Amino acid sequence: ELYNKVLELKGNIRVFCRCRPLNSAEVALGASMAIDFEAAEEGELTVFSNGMSKKTFKFDAVFSPQASQDDVFDDTAPVATSVLDGYNVCIFAYGQTGTGKTFTMEGTDDARGVNYRTLEALFHIIEERRSTFRYEISVSVLEVYNEQIRDLLVSDSGVGAKRLEIKQVGDGMHPVPGLFEAQVKTMKEAWEILRTGSNGRAVGSTSANEHSSRSHCLHCVMVKGENLLNGECTRSKLWLIDLAGSERIAKTEVQGERLRETQNINKSLSALGDVISALATKSPHIPFRNSKLTHLLQDSLGGDSKTLMFVQISPNENDLSETLCSLNFASRVR
Ligand code: ADP
Ligand code: MG
Repeated sequence: ELYNKVLELKGNIRVFCRCRPLNSAEVALGASMAIDFEAAEEGELTVFSNGMSKKTFKFDAVFSPQASQDDVFDDTAPVATSVLDGYNVCIFAYGQTGTGKTFTMEGTDDARGVNYRTLEALFHIIEERRSTFRYEISVSVLEVYNEQIRDLLVSDSGVGAKRLEIKQVGDGMHPVPGLFEAQVKTMKEAWEILRTGSNGRAVGSTSANEHSSRSHCLHCVMVKGENLLNGECTRSKLWLIDLAGSERIAKTEVQGERLRETQNINKSLSALGDVISALATKSPHIPFRNSKLTHLLQDSLGGDSKTLMFVQISPNENDLSETLCSLNFASRVR
């Protein structure tokens, strides 16, 4: 509850920027850093490069390459766990492929990410509130690929995941009829199902890694809460979203099917940027219908919902133009 006071003060949309470390291949090649994190504590980073004037960006938090998964989660937990107080929450990871979107959200077995830690925190709080609240938790996993929504927990006889359509319903229920929701009682159960879903992404694609960078992967944690003292009931959703890579088309010079994929990714990411910036500036018209992704999330963005965007970047000078694109995107939604 203390957390929520802090949230109210800060508003409902926040942007965190996280930079991955240079990897060993880059170090071996003598790659240089193009970003200065001296003012990271103040939420600032400065991009510098030969032949370019310095440019400073400010975010709600900046995580340097030295920041740990713990550091990141400390700042994320208040937003994520507010779903138990009845808030709808969306947490996104945005950025060029290879900048750590999956590392931040999914993490690894040795360095758990936001998804795992969030489930842990939720079940911990549920236990703490046992005498005053009763909660029912269910989870769904879906993917948006080429402007098609697929249920990753249900496969359609042999052709991979089941396809779904959005139908907007007015009662705050899930906008995707037929989406499978798995009821879960424990953290372990929830995590296993989310894992199974993520693994389902690979089905039918040539390379799991490549596919995952071309599609948006969405984990949804649905909460039904009942206050045992006054009988008040709440329903809320937490979305944990690993977005498709934001890298621009010119770099890869794609054709045919790949071109269509890229156009769909660009369309949905820019639609997401448009929606969040319209919400941030309190615009009267929020263009939710411009992509499947924003349409799907319509009832979880805006109103008193909370949105957190991780903008993931590379420190490598060679990635500077993509990094600037991501930082500019992030500045626009803030
Ligand atoms: P993306 O999902 O954006 O394509 P990944 O999460 O797969 O990127 O990250 C690319 C590689 O960099 C992975 O091997 C990942 O473990 C590593 N990596 C990313 N961010 C960090 C970090 N903050 N610390 C250590 N390794 C990282
Ligand atoms: Mg990834």
